[in-house]
Amino acid sequence: ELDRPLPDPTSDPAPDPGADEPFRDVDDFGGANDWNVNSINAPEVWAEGYTGEGVVVAVVDTGVDASHRELSSSIWVNQGEIAGNGIDDDVNGFVDDTWGWDFVAGDNSPTDLNGHGTHVAGTIAAANNGYGATGVAFDATIMPVRVLDTSGTGSSYDVAAGIRYAVDNGADVITVSLGGSYNSTLRAALSYAEQQGVFVVAAAGNEADATPGYPAAFSASLTNVLSVGAHDSAGAVAWFSNGVGGSGAVQVDAPGVNIYSTLPGNRYGYLSGSSMAAPHVAGLAALALSANPGLAPEALRTLIVDGADRSIAGTDSSGGVNSAVAVARALGYTATTVGQTSAASAVATFNGSSAARLAADHVFSELGQVPDATRRFRLFGGLGGLG
Ligand code: CA
Repeated sequence: ELDRPLPDPTSDPAPDPGADEPFRDVDDFGGANDWNVNSINAPEVWAEGYTGEGVVVAVVDTGVDASHRELSSSIWVNQGEIAGNGIDDDVNGFVDDTWGWDFVAGDNSPTDLNGHGTHVAGTIAAANNGYGATGVAFDATIMPVRVLDTSGTGSSYDVAAGIRYAVDNGADVITVSLGGSYNSTLRAALSYAEQQGVFVVAAAGNEADATPGYPAAFSASLTNVLSVGAHDSAGAVAWFSNGVGGSGAVQVDAPGVNIYSTLPGNRYGYLSGSSMAAPHVAGLAALALSANPGLAPEALRTLIVDGADRSIAGTDSSGGVNSAVAVARALGYTATTVGQTSAASAVATFNGSSAARLAADHVFSELGQVPDATRRFRLFGGLGGLG
């Protein structure tokens, strides 16, 4: 045995420049308006057959235009409800909620009277139909939950109720492109989602602050919440995007500047904001869950964060998300075969989040007595104007 020659390292083939990418490379999808899906390697995932099919993503926002030609085939249907009979057939507490709920008006029609929620929904699941916009997970199902009014504001109670509705009615992923200050009612709803195994993606906020707003900042203490900042097409963090700072938030970046997506009335437009970044990660989560439906939220968050290998200039997040790496991890690839995560960096991340978690819990205990009733939350988007 001692005579067996050692392997000759020089005989190994030259490294492929794309060797760290787990799926075969494919041509860029679409045109200039599709830079966002190309930037996060979504087409490489689609080529493997994972498109978000069977995954329900709740858009807790200003509502959704369910009649938009890009979205009409993707809207969630409550199978337990008979439309228009005035009876809560599925006994979920909501009468005739056939396609979601409007917590602002208190009715069964979560129509979008602002435009923001429809834009968010399109980034997740706009149809791959050869025109307009195309969602990151174009075969995912959208559950519209309206918690923000025409002006884009809403109460903490409505946001929390909307999250609980999504959890109770089968959402796999919840995306919340809104925020405000610490709120215990909202935290309790997110903790309920954690207990029920529902993943929550939250926009970091647009105040150019060192730390994210809430609910994104709850990612420091809840294992199912992931904070998302915005980056542009050049790979730089957006000027407005809130950082991690000392918050202990678990945060990645995603496309959030000049994002082309759907607007009510079969229209389209460009918007900027961390509101636009968060649904990219919700779509990515849907891709990963369509590849591996058994993923628990904490595992899902870990593979998205560890797979965020895009270098984003000026950020202090874990990096820009990469759908191909994350979904490959979802399929069971290991850190040694996908991406550059080393044991050392994994330990550093763990220690960092543990210390930060303690700090964040201290903040919660200090602020926990603040009355919640008048807290208002606001959407995190719309910068750059409607196209
Ligand atoms: Ca019902």
